Amino acid sequence: MNMRTRVGIVGAGPAGLLLSLLLSREGIDSIVLESRSREEVESTIRAGVLEQGTVDLMTEMGLGERMKREGSVHHGIELRFDGYGHRIHLYELTNGRAITLYPQHEVLKDCIAARLAQGGHILFNVKDVELFDVSSRQPLLRCAHEHMQVELQCDFIAGCDGFHGVSRLSIPEAMQHVFTRSYPFGWLGILMQAPPSTNELIYAYHERGFALVSTRSPELQRLYIQCDPDDDIARWSDAMILEELQVRLVTRDNWQLLVGPIIQKSILAMRSFVIEPMQYGRLFLAGDAAHIVPPTGAKGLNLAVADVRHLSLALTVFYQENRTDLLEAYSTTCLRRVWRAEHFSWWMTSMLHRFPDDDAFGQRMQRAQLDYTVGSRAAATSLAENYVGLPY
Ligand SMILES: Cc1cc2nc3c(=O)[nH]c(=O)nc-3n(C[C@H](O)[C@H](O)[C@H](O)COP(=O)(O)OP(=O)(O)OC[C@H]3O[C@@H](n4cnc5c(N)ncnc54)[C@H](O)[C@@H]3O)c2cc1C
Repeated sequence: MNMRTRVGIVGAGPAGLLLSLLLSREGIDSIVLESRSREEVESTIRAGVLEQGTVDLMTEMGLGERMKREGSVHHGIELRFDGYGHRIHLYELTNGRAITLYPQHEVLKDCIAARLAQGGHILFNVKDVELFDVSSRQPLLRCAHEHMQVELQCDFIAGCDGFHGVSRLSIPEAMQHVFTRSYPFGWLGILMQAPPSTNELIYAYHERGFALVSTRSPELQRLYIQCDPDDDIARWSDAMILEELQVRLVTRDNWQLLVGPIIQKSILAMRSFVIEPMQYGRLFLAGDAAHIVPPTGAKGLNLAVADVRHLSLALTVFYQENRTDLLEAYSTTCLRRVWRAEHFSWWMTSMLHRFPDDDAFGQRMQRAQLDYTVGSRAAATSLAENYVGLPY
């Protein structure tokens, strides 16, 4: 089957789906190729923290109705250490900006429904996606779909297929610079059926390691503890996880974690990764395909949204005004925000986790940084403005 579109998009994650919607708003057609089923895309639990700019964009695009109804707006977060909680007042420190907790898979459900309602094409369950001629003016995508070979001719390809996707591999090694950092710890994440123990996220620093209390809905809570990245999840019984959470989150005024059945648990490795440039010929990478951050700063999904915002604008200017300047500047423009988020995510991670080889000096440095962050308005503002998302 031969098809033609202006922008061939690989991957129906937040980057790919939002890009197809942003382009359609400007009358630019696209086709999305996704290797997983719709059900799988719509049920994989991942991010949950949306920056103010992400929320504003979704609202502006008519995707905000359910998010407004079911998501929850948070005006602060808590940093907890030495048995005391310290609130970072995001709203007050950033002139009225906030974060919204609304799960990534709910964002994806809204995007898929909106795109399909427009009559847009998303091919789920595609296999063996291959990219050809990306440095030419007529790049090509091939894949298998429902026992048919599909050939998709495009003007441009957007590689929105995440860290393990195929798009990035089309950039010749000699043309890329890769920057990485891996961390000597991971996150053991659980989904627990329980009411929320707190109205706002709690980031806890403890001698046994980091812990994070987050939420997904009034009935479902998302919690994490720092662990060995090579640990086997089968070794962690539910009782062990709950005990560890309780120890790391203890306060001097006897704060209580509300517990319930654990319905999902997994271990997530943590890394920082950036490829430069994010473009080669007519292939543009966006989101996790181009960069990864450790989840401590809650930036991954939001960075993906920022990338496609730039990409859709650059493509719009190309089609409507025949200008290529924004396409040429795409990588440089995105990388400024990417590196800011890389730094913020690394900084939060370094301040809040126990490093296995850390000596007393390193721990005193972390404590000094925590004291300063909660004690100085300037330092708290820096955390707050990064956390709610810097302006585009
Ligand atoms: C546990 C966890 C918690 C997180 N918490 C947060 C948070 O609170 N806030 C935040 O901002 N970020 C968070 N993140 C990061 C966030 O989920 C990612 O940064 C975000 O999903 C990136 O979106 P994306 O569209 O670039 O890539 P993805 O979401 O990875 O989407 C890529 C899509 O491409 C598809 N694909 C892959 N290969 C192919 C192929 N060969 N052919 C066709 N399709 C393909 C995949 O199936 C997938 O659907 C978290 C991540 C994890 C794992």
